[in-house]
Amino acid sequence: MNHIQELVTELGYDTSNEELTQTPSRSYSYFKKYTKKTDQDFSDFCLSNNIKSTYSKKTKNIKISLQNISVHSICQHHLLPFYGHAYISYVSNGHTLGLSKFKRLIDYVSSEFTTQEHLTQNIASHIMAILPVKSLYITLECTHSCMIVRGVKDINSYTTTETHFHEDKDDVSHSL
Ligand SMILES: [Zn+2]
Repeated sequence: MNHIQELVTELGYDTSNEELTQTPSRSYSYFKKYTKKTDQDFSDFCLSNNIKSTYSKKTKNIKISLQNISVHSICQHHLLPFYGHAYISYVSNGHTLGLSKFKRLIDYVSSEFTTQEHLTQNIASHIMAILPVKSLYITLECTHSCMIVRGVKDINSYTTTETHFHEDKDDVSHSL
């Protein structure tokens, strides 16, 4: 937190100014909140949030799709947020996961300094660690603050990343 205060001072601002006195702690709280994944082991996280798949042969071969799941993370290149939506689709082999659990998983996985490409792969691998599937499709559409406030200042662009898994191919393909 002192380093943030030093940064603000280094940039020429007086941190005793009443508008800035709480800024270092606010900034620190923000980064702490959105990088806290390492505080909790993944299996402990699943246990404490009751995240586990259930099996019913009635769901076998059904394709289940979730749209517009909100995503927020922090770009590790610039320490600026990127945010948008995730689209998850899987063909069940009989195992399913409660719908709200996907959002919890995304929040858990995205709470770190990362890139959108890595986050996309990471969401897929965490889902597959607890949910056996016939196939899985993950798409992320995100707006990057570093594109908006820096360099090219492009306010309208967004980036799409996709990864696919099929049990017969036994690989996770990835494209940007
Ligand atoms: Zn960036």
